[in-house]
Amino acid sequence: MPEPGPEPCTATSPTSPTSPAVSPTATGAAAGAGWPRLSEDLPGPRVPGVCQKCGRTRRQVEEAGLHLQLWREHSEQADRPEEVYLYLCTGCDKEHPARGIVSRHPRYYSRMATHAPIPGTMPLCAGCRWRGESPEVRRPARLELGDAAEGLACRCPAAKASGGPGIVIDHPEPFGAHFKAGAASGFYTLFPGPALRCSGREEHTPTKGHTDPWTRP
Ligand SMILES: [Zn+2]
Repeated sequence: MPEPGPEPCTATSPTSPTSPAVSPTATGAAAGAGWPRLSEDLPGPRVPGVCQKCGRTRRQVEEAGLHLQLWREHSEQADRPEEVYLYLCTGCDKEHPARGIVSRHPRYYSRMATHAPIPGTMPLCAGCRWRGESPEVRRPARLELGDAAEGLACRCPAAKASGGPGIVIDHPEPFGAHFKAGAASGFYTLFPGPALRCSGREEHTPTKGHTDPWTRP
């Protein structure tokens, strides 16, 4: 996979096809029920643009010559994609020389396109009052977040998933590119930059006396 440069991705939206690049291991497939979740087990904050293992922001990660990647978690049954995402930097993912955290994990993870306009994960979601946690993710709130919401899911009442009329996300026009990189070769949709606006966004206001370190991109 060429790095740096455009990152081949696995999907452009929650409804896009998933990647052939990451597969559950044979041992994981044999493990059956009760597979752990990186979304629950990694110790860092679950907020947009922050690595859930080391806690570095996208800017810090890129200053270190690394990339921040968004992954989508899949179910144990039939590897069904769930509305559960997590950010992981390439430094943390590849800390094991041969295989990264994601590729060693029994659960299936698909890699999302950089800047993919997925509600709840975008930089503009960071300070939105409607960002929250997916019900599939069960872990205690992080005390250092103050009263800031933790999670990478959109709970906007205007979203269709919430029974609303739907939200409109303005984002730079995506473009397609074909990569030749072994098993990961294929046609990918790339986004040149992050989403700019969301019709459902409402500013989160921290409670007086609380700091809110993660709600600014
Ligand atoms: Zn990291």
